[in-house]
Amino acid sequence: MRSVTGRTDHVVIVGAGLAGLSAALHLAGAGRRVTVLERADVPGGRAGLHELDGYRIDTGPTVLTMPELLDEALHAVGSSVRERLDLIPLHPAYQARFADGSALAVHTDAEAMEQEVRRLAGPREAEGYRRLRRWLTEVYRAEMHRFIDANFDSPLDLVSPELARLVALGGFGRLGPAIGRFLRDERVRRVFSFQALYAGLDPRRALALYAVISYMDTVNGVWFPRGGMHAVPTAMAQAAAGAGVEFRYGTEVTGLERSGERISAVRTAQERIPADAVVLTPDLPVVHRLLGSAPKRRLRWSPSAVVLHAGTTRDWGSAHHTISFGEAWADTFTEIIRDGRPMSDPSLLITRPTASDPSLAPEGRDLHYVLAPCPNLRTGPIDWERVGPRYRDELVGALERRGFAGFDAAIETAELVTPREWAAQGHAAGTPFSAAHTFAQTGPFRPPNLVRGMSNVVLAGSGTTPGVGVPPVLISGKLAARRITG
Ligand SMILES: Cc1cc2nc3c(=O)[nH]c(=O)nc-3n(C[C@H](O)[C@H](O)[C@H](O)COP(=O)(O)OP(=O)(O)OC[C@H]3O[C@@H](n4cnc5c(N)ncnc54)[C@H](O)[C@@H]3O)c2cc1C
Repeated sequence: MRSVTGRTDHVVIVGAGLAGLSAALHLAGAGRRVTVLERADVPGGRAGLHELDGYRIDTGPTVLTMPELLDEALHAVGSSVRERLDLIPLHPAYQARFADGSALAVHTDAEAMEQEVRRLAGPREAEGYRRLRRWLTEVYRAEMHRFIDANFDSPLDLVSPELARLVALGGFGRLGPAIGRFLRDERVRRVFSFQALYAGLDPRRALALYAVISYMDTVNGVWFPRGGMHAVPTAMAQAAAGAGVEFRYGTEVTGLERSGERISAVRTAQERIPADAVVLTPDLPVVHRLLGSAPKRRLRWSPSAVVLHAGTTRDWGSAHHTISFGEAWADTFTEIIRDGRPMSDPSLLITRPTASDPSLAPEGRDLHYVLAPCPNLRTGPIDWERVGPRYRDELVGALERRGFAGFDAAIETAELVTPREWAAQGHAAGTPFSAAHTFAQTGPFRPPNLVRGMSNVVLAGSGTTPGVGVPPVLISGKLAARRITG
């Protein structure tokens, strides 16, 4: 594995999102002096917290999977998830609701899920689920350590027994047909393939190897930290600070000082901070601006999302996570990925964090987070300032028709986040989900974490390997640290 050359005693990390925090913990654990520079006043980045009228709103991720990766980062400094967080396992992980009025509780426990699939779709489908679960587990085992949790120096690094195993498992076919080998019921199929959207892909076209995401939530499990998702970055930052990492918040990095192939210092509006090595975690356009380099190629950006945060005076007994599938499932992806139009029959992730932790809302109130995938601004240059209020009404209308009758009247406070807001935060193409995980933008083909021509700069975060989402960015921080520690 190639690594940073020369001295690496003092590492400066730009960004205190989950990637930067993971890198900080792994580097501090390896004995480096670490300084983290973050433009916001708190850690977390996209895993942010917004306090509104007594509601504590998580602004980004809501589905926490693979907490063992968090544990690994905390372990690096002698701490643990158990010591720092109260993780509530979600049973079921999701409640899936379909346009025909039927519903399926997505259990991660094999027995419970088999029973549930049998109830909805019969014994043959339940047997198919068992086989699918084994296949998902095998795909995960073949991929995780060799292809996801791995630094690549060249595509040749892919060549391995695990690659042969992945080929044998059908990982390079399409996800839709792969799931279809096990399941016949269209509704149950959706439950195991919608996760491709987390990677910015149409489940019908995504490679079957992305089934690894379905393993993470439907087999390995989904958790919720008491206090909200923002408790995760808070805990990581506290553990890192306890291990000697210096955090400077409200500090925007404006430039990098270069000396030959090395960055010798990081500049902010106020000062110059000398560095032996630098980890850059912002979105790729910011990274390119700081490095004064042009992107090597045109990237395909993931679809974006509209998020409606609503504090309500009542609840509808919904689960922590509900996936409300529209009828027009296939067309949905054509609309948002190819045509650049909002979904005409939306499929929504409706999260009610107060189902697990009522303290996130004022007494007697509830918090609903409604995420609607939508085109990014490149494929769909929609004027969200104009369209936003109308789209909000459409979303609320869909909720009212799908088991949340009276939703509009119950809203006490609300906020709508659209691609316009994501763009204003500096996210390329108005999407907070970075470069899509097409095959050409995955593994050794994704923008690498080492920068060509620079000997002491490493990237971490959504734009580089392994990719977008809480588990990948936690891994990216660890991989960046490894490039530095060797
Ligand atoms: C709405 C939404 C829903 C999501 N849902 C899920 C989910 O359910 N499950 C899941 O696993 N993932 C989810 N994700 C994805 C996941 O949240 C992200 O992939 C991950 O948090 C990104 O972390 P990061 O460290 O790469 O980037 P960021 O969190 O963006 O961190 C980068 C940091 O760098 C800082 N920064 C930028 N420029 C500078 C500068 N010049 N100087 C100093 N600091 C700078 C930023 O302020 C930021 O704090 C979701 C994301 C969003 C937005």
